[in-house]
Amino acid sequence: MSESSPVFEPVIGLEVHAELLTRSKMFCGCRVVDSTTAEPNSAVCEICTGMPGTLPVINQRAVEFALRVALALHCEIAPTSVFARKNYFYPDLPKGYQISQYELPLARDGWLDIDTEAGPKRIRIRRVHLEEDTGKLFHHADYSLIDYNRSGVPLLEIVSEPDLYAVSEAYSYATALRSLLRYLQVSSGDMEKGVIRFEANVSVRRPGDEALGTRTEIKNLNSFRAMTRALEYEIERQSEHLARGEPVVQETVGWDETRQATVSQRSKETASDYRYFPEPDLPPLVVDPAWVSTVQAGLPELAPEKRARYQEQYELTPYAAALLTAERAVAAFFEAALAAKPETEPAAIANWITGELFSLLNQDDLEIDQSQVTPAALARLVALVEAGQVNANGGKAVLAELHRQGDQPETWIERLGLSQIRDEREIEALVEQVLEENPDQLEAYLAGKEAIQHWLFGQVMRATSGRGDPQLIRQLLAAALAAKQEHTAGE
Ligand code: ADP
Ligand code: MG
Ligand code: ZN
Repeated sequence: MSESSPVFEPVIGLEVHAELLTRSKMFCGCRVVDSTTAEPNSAVCEICTGMPGTLPVINQRAVEFALRVALALHCEIAPTSVFARKNYFYPDLPKGYQISQYELPLARDGWLDIDTEAGPKRIRIRRVHLEEDTGKLFHHADYSLIDYNRSGVPLLEIVSEPDLYAVSEAYSYATALRSLLRYLQVSSGDMEKGVIRFEANVSVRRPGDEALGTRTEIKNLNSFRAMTRALEYEIERQSEHLARGEPVVQETVGWDETRQATVSQRSKETASDYRYFPEPDLPPLVVDPAWVSTVQAGLPELAPEKRARYQEQYELTPYAAALLTAERAVAAFFEAALAAKPETEPAAIANWITGELFSLLNQDDLEIDQSQVTPAALARLVALVEAGQVNANGGKAVLAELHRQGDQPETWIERLGLSQIRDEREIEALVEQVLEENPDQLEAYLAGKEAIQHWLFGQVMRATSGRGDPQLIRQLLAAALAAKQEHTAGE
């Protein structure tokens, strides 16, 4: 590598914010509504709009959800944590401060294993804490509107150590975390609704350097795509700076979606800018160890364990096991299908889900639980294909109908005219027809070219539009050929 083009390696730490799926808000009794569809300011009260003289109350369910995540991330739970005021002014923050956890977060020092090109990698989690979301601003030509429905919605913040050394690792970490939140059923993870947002901290350094470089913090990334694009851009920008001998300035930048570039927003704020102090209106949050144990015991089987179990118990490939366990709903579908048809090979069911069904879901941009096909119907279809009641292509056509319209596989096999032809007379007639239509091939066969039998089989199958019972065709064709042979020999 020449002096003029040094290569730099990125170091990334992610802060992930996830809205929790509680029924009510973090500090008041207002319902948590879908802030992309609900009537603006229809789920607000004096607490979440910051009226003077009101008092917040901690939502116990939000704490339980946070505990689930923290425990699944192998964190240490603080027996006592403290809410603090993070002071800053913005119109979407009516109190003039956000209630968050600062010095004493609910949980710290955990880890999450991710997949990388070089194999599994353990990413350390620095902290997990609870806070509240802000309202939403809508800017128009010469005025702005504020919707406080989202104000006070429980937010979980999960902060990683700077352990991610490639954009692909950041992507893998972010998707693994989203999958975890959905497995734990604490967040919808709906990216399109902004339920999960990222802040990406990134610096670059020369390979082999121990010390971390100066970082920038990219705010408001609300899709995986925006996160990866922004990181790529920022890594390139920092590398160019250093290559020219200019230092990287520690600052906060925003991702400009239309320009596909990061823009400097302000010099990096420090803790003292926020004048953090303990929230005087809330007591310290004390979590009973017995409660923590109960939550721990109630954690579901998570993706990594499921994946290992699928490989072991069902002899699935690591790839199939990974595909089936990435989303809780997919794993649940697979398990329900197995339960419906325990005698069918798990690998066959796995294939139909990750192959045909995934491609249908992709086409229609749907999640598995939005499909009309039930796990039992899919399992039944796989069994019918395996038993030769319908061929693989027919099975695919049936699955497409099941997926879009529901019903039973047998109904669609019937309606689409796909049932297998097992009538001996019908197949015998087709065999005769094929032999008559192909005298040259027949002659070659009789002269000793046995491989032609396979070709003839294909012709008969084609004459049935692929619906003939292969076993029966093979048998009747062999019989017909044997008869011809005798006939020839007898001549
Ligand atoms: P704050 O954003 O409040 O300054 P922290 O200092 O705790 O918070 O860091 C936030 C995130 O930045 C963490 O995810 C951490 O891993 C990451 N980080 C810290 N230093 C660096 C660095 N030099 N390069 C990349 N990421 C970093
Ligand atoms: Mg930060
Ligand atoms: Zn409220």
